Amino acid sequence: MKNTKIMLQASSISKSYGSVPVLSDISIDLPAGEWLGILGESGSGKSTLLKILGRFLDADTGSISFKGNELPPVSSELMRGYDAIKLIHQEFELFPNQTVEENISYSLRFYDPAYKKERVEDLLEITALGSVRNQKAKLLSGGEKQRTAIAKSLAEQPDVLLLDEPFAHLDNHNRRVLADAIEGLRKQQKMSCVFVTHESADALAWSDRIAVLKDGEIIQIGTPQEVYNKPVNSYVAELTGDINWLNDQESGKKTFIRPEKIKRTKHPEKSKWSGKVQAIRFHGNHWEVRCANKQGDLAFYRNRRDLEIGDEVFLTYSSRDVMVAGE
Ligand code: ADP
Ligand code: MG
Repeated sequence: MKNTKIMLQASSISKSYGSVPVLSDISIDLPAGEWLGILGESGSGKSTLLKILGRFLDADTGSISFKGNELPPVSSELMRGYDAIKLIHQEFELFPNQTVEENISYSLRFYDPAYKKERVEDLLEITALGSVRNQKAKLLSGGEKQRTAIAKSLAEQPDVLLLDEPFAHLDNHNRRVLADAIEGLRKQQKMSCVFVTHESADALAWSDRIAVLKDGEIIQIGTPQEVYNKPVNSYVAELTGDINWLNDQESGKKTFIRPEKIKRTKHPEKSKWSGKVQAIRFHGNHWEVRCANKQGDLAFYRNRRDLEIGDEVFLTYSSRDVMVAGE
């Protein structure tokens, strides 16, 4: 394997607010160029972790290193933050009475005017903000504010970008515009990113690796495929997608399976589960069919609506796709 440079490293970070522990023994390596998604429910400690990585908050124990050098505590410095690491908070800070262009230019105020002009144009293009460049920040939509905050943070080409819930509160259109902007960033800027989200679809789509945070602890780190297909336990499985519980009579173990792994069969003798259709839900690109028998419920997906409520169905699956619930 290539010996990749580690940009940012958190070692054994713990943090409590008063007597309440919020983060316990968190260690993360962020290689150059990697996009690391932190996936966790609300209150799991995501924003606190990002503030510690972004040098806005000191951990109680543990250390943060940047390019191999341990950084001094934030409290020992005159200013919070760190030029090479840019954090975009959940409530992004813009100058409300300045235009988009002025907000972005402000970050570049000490630069040569010609460079500044060119860089601002680049940033407006990457973040698709050209059409609102003269709009005051306070009049922008949520999606435009989010992209202005990103453009502003990128102005000085940070090595590490930290994004707190970048897609939260965005409608579908703005999500797509931001997604395109992020895709552009990944291609054009050689930077690493840690982004925090409670939406598994975003974590799965955008991460090179995902760290799952539960009650302030990282319970799994892996590629999106590893976390989705080989979750360490049913908590991670449910956080990252839908699951069906199975009753494994033979082993007595609690087992589960993803709905997309369940297939319909016309041959009752080949089926592992049979029951009646209880509900059919349309999800745009597929139909979710929920069935039940005396033992329990099972959901599976169809591309067409070829079943009706009350129909009897015979279902099968490969034992390879059955997962055993961990502790
Ligand atoms: P997330 O971003 O995953 O929702 P946070 O890091 O914001 O989680 O919060 C984690 C826990 O710490 C929550 O229970 C929250 O109420 C608590 N918390 C966050 N900030 C503070 C603070 N400044 N003082 C006291 N408790 C806090
Ligand atoms: Mg948060």
